[in-house]
Amino acid sequence: MQDIREPLLTLRGVTKLYDRFRAVDDISLDIRRGEFFSLLGPSGCGKSTTLRIIAGLEQPEHGDITLNKVTLVNAESGVFLPSQKRNMGMVFQSYAIWPHLSVFDTVAYPLAVRKMPKDQINTKVREMLHLVGLEGYENRMAPMLSGGQQQRVALARALVYEPHVLLLDEPFSNLDVKLREQMRIELKLLQRRVGVTVILVTHDQLEALSLSDRIAVMNAGHVEQLGSPADLYENPRTAFVRDFIGASLQLRGKLLGRAPEGATIELDGAGRLEGRLHDGAALRDGGEITATIRPESLIVGPADGAAQPNSIEATVQALLFVGDKYECVLKVGGQDVRSFLPRARGRAAYEEGSRIRLTFPASEVTIWPR
Ligand code: ATP
Repeated sequence: MQDIREPLLTLRGVTKLYDRFRAVDDISLDIRRGEFFSLLGPSGCGKSTTLRIIAGLEQPEHGDITLNKVTLVNAESGVFLPSQKRNMGMVFQSYAIWPHLSVFDTVAYPLAVRKMPKDQINTKVREMLHLVGLEGYENRMAPMLSGGQQQRVALARALVYEPHVLLLDEPFSNLDVKLREQMRIELKLLQRRVGVTVILVTHDQLEALSLSDRIAVMNAGHVEQLGSPADLYENPRTAFVRDFIGASLQLRGKLLGRAPEGATIELDGAGRLEGRLHDGAALRDGGEITATIRPESLIVGPADGAAQPNSIEATVQALLFVGDKYECVLKVGGQDVRSFLPRARGRAAYEEGSRIRLTFPASEVTIWPR
């Protein structure tokens, strides 16, 4: 039996230059068999270029790529296997469904090209349409389908010949929010059922967090951090990853001194707090810091309640109702900070202008150099 943790696809030192600009800068990745892997990052960080290099649509200047131990690319010795020989399925942002073909013919196309016998094509296409929930649509022409249905056809077409890897580049970004959520769940279920290795490119952290086994967070052409969604959320190694994955309340201040379990900080105009220093943070006493806490770890109560250790007062500046909670701007000393407040059933627990007390469990506060 094959070990599902063994790497299926390996990138080593992959670099892509556009003139002297390093769009992809020395990337090395091991993508495991059967895993859902995402490349996540802001616009322009090089994630699409990385995917296009894996697909064989771009040629890197340096590095090598192997799939199943077979060399696809070795830039130094000039090996470059063309895209159509890599056995990878692809779905991109634009639906790229041919307007003159029926759903059946679209999904059958990759099999017909591979000269599969007609009866086998028939069985495979029907199985695939069943998997993506499009039974009964065989004869429908593509332009007569909704956006979500067209992306399902694109997925079926990409998966029907059982590719080694499915490459997805922002596949749902043309769909409305509700449909995106639905397609996200469908994709996860489909991937689990089919067991295919998926590499997804997205700038949407929620999409990456909810779908992926592992995520490579990219920034300016390199991988900033690679890990499971929970690991990236709980243990960001850099401020970039911390701010890109999830929200956090952030306060400015200075380091006062080390405490037995961590450190004490003085917030600019808002009192003292204890927290733990970010791993490896090189900070001297008096150094400028940013203290962060994930909103769900913050304990919020009325300002006139009993004083809690490690708490500060704040004023609610703005409250935005977003359904399950409030997005808010709080005034803490002289600082305006963004966070979330819990919603009390049936009424607003807080009002704009009200004073509240924020309690920070010390183990949840991370102190970063600024
Ligand atoms: P987005 O989410 O906006 O697509 P991305 O992270 O996928 O962003 P890439 O498309 O990989 O980013 O592009 C990385 C960088 O390389 C960008 O700065 C882009 O402008 C540049 N780039 C991409 N393709 C080319 C090209 N053909 N010629 C020159 N520069 C390019």
